[in-house]
Amino acid sequence: MDHALFLDSLRAIVGEAGLVCDAEKLSRYTREWRGKFASGAIAAVRPASTAEVSAVVATCTEYGIAITPQGGNTGLVGGSVPIDISGEIVLSLERMNAIEDVDPDGNTMVVQAGCILAQAQQAAEQVDRIFPLSLGAEGSCMIGGNLSTNAGGINVIRYGNMRDLVLGLEVVLADGRVWNGMNRLRKDNTGYDLKHLFIGAEGTLGIITRAVLKTFPRPKDRLTAWLACQTPEHCLDALNMMRNRLGDGIIAGEIIPAIALDQTLKQTPDTKAPLQPLPAWSLLVEVGVFDEAGAVRDTLDFVLQEAISQEVIYDGVVAQNMSQAQDFWKIREAIPSAEIKSGPSIKHDVSVPVHRVAELITRGTTLLQELYPGSRPVPFGHLGDGNLHFNLCAPVDAVGDPEAEAKFLAAWEPINRAFHDLVREMNGSISAEHGIGQLKKDELARTADSVGLDVMRAVKAALDPGNLLNPGKIF
Ligand SMILES: Cc1cc2nc3c(=O)[nH]c(=O)nc-3n(C[C@H](O)[C@H](O)[C@H](O)COP(=O)(O)OP(=O)(O)OC[C@H]3O[C@@H](n4cnc5c(N)ncnc54)[C@H](O)[C@@H]3O)c2cc1C
Repeated sequence: MDHALFLDSLRAIVGEAGLVCDAEKLSRYTREWRGKFASGAIAAVRPASTAEVSAVVATCTEYGIAITPQGGNTGLVGGSVPIDISGEIVLSLERMNAIEDVDPDGNTMVVQAGCILAQAQQAAEQVDRIFPLSLGAEGSCMIGGNLSTNAGGINVIRYGNMRDLVLGLEVVLADGRVWNGMNRLRKDNTGYDLKHLFIGAEGTLGIITRAVLKTFPRPKDRLTAWLACQTPEHCLDALNMMRNRLGDGIIAGEIIPAIALDQTLKQTPDTKAPLQPLPAWSLLVEVGVFDEAGAVRDTLDFVLQEAISQEVIYDGVVAQNMSQAQDFWKIREAIPSAEIKSGPSIKHDVSVPVHRVAELITRGTTLLQELYPGSRPVPFGHLGDGNLHFNLCAPVDAVGDPEAEAKFLAAWEPINRAFHDLVREMNGSISAEHGIGQLKKDELARTADSVGLDVMRAVKAALDPGNLLNPGKIF
């Protein structure tokens, strides 16, 4: 098909600066960051306003051209790159990056979808507030992508997922109409709460262009502790003891096994072990101090002593200053990239009810080692949310041997299936925070409630009858 007329129409809307057709420049938009999913596209289109997004979508509908919406392209399930080799456009929100309004009294901020998460965080801090969504890709991922994946991250235990952090949305629908749901209301029961349709929809129901986000009072200080436990059960017990005493002061609670800590320290420059010898299981906890710092510190010390005397933790260190706290978090954030540098691994992003996390670690480890003898399970992540990145690293002797690595990776799907069956049996989710995209759509079809899937398909058909918005994702 000759796309010249179509491209001329797009050019008339977004101008030369808004259109990328050159194959080399285009590859940035058609390849996801791990290189697992790559495709072609007719063009990447970069509108600069909601009106331009609307006109681009209407033009695509007219020509029957599919659209892959894209933010920072940091998604981990292949949702942000086209599935077709050349018949789609990528609609990048990167030029719509303004922070339009920050209201400290109303605890809200209004941002465009292409605003980078770290910039939204900084804008909130400038008025003594926080925007609490925090994750490893925050320097690149964008608010529209965070909304479309209902992103989680490290502070969910205290502030919830992205879904909990939004008051209003503006969305361009598949026919080009603009839905203005930019409300700042804390209470509004006027029919269906439509914003929730688009949050977590991975760009399959509409293009999010602007959002009203919630902000929160900024903690006066933070206390960060690295604790050593013998078992995952003890990590959970320690976290619960701290939550019982410090309540909502507990902002994050991450679990890290020795294998992940060891890999990360070896692969990441300028990191050093928080404790020696390396703990069998580490619990990284962040406590927000909202009132007098000394009182919270005293309570934390008290509960840590209590945990030591009950043999729930056997060692621990509270960061003495911001720089040491940042060193602890640097280790946590570097786990995924260290894992990549350490050889191939098969990924799982799952959740179970929080009280069953330790059981999942025990049963999951046994299962994975039976499925692929010699492989090395690396379950780490958001303990307080019941969400583990339960990855499986290749056997040590397979790393660096192309044939053995390929054999290991060929087992990805059967291993996923068996592991997801365990997670389902434990009333868990096969995708806790990254979504479905291309990576998990077969698993969704295999494992989801059939009535629920029918309802999802009906919503998709109602909002996008031509199947032009991110086709081949989720379904
Ligand atoms: C190192 C690293 C650490 C990470 N840690 C976490 C973590 O802790 N928690 C977590 O939840 N995720 C994590 N992620 C995954 C990823 O960062 C999140 O999914 C993030 O929310 C994606 O944002 P993005 O702007 O990059 O979206 P993209 O990757 O560009 O897109 C993601 C999906 O949203 C759609 N989309 C994007 N923008 C729009 C829009 N404006 N309107 C409609 N649809 C749109 C895309 O089509 C795609 O389906 C991590 C990723 C990396 C690389």
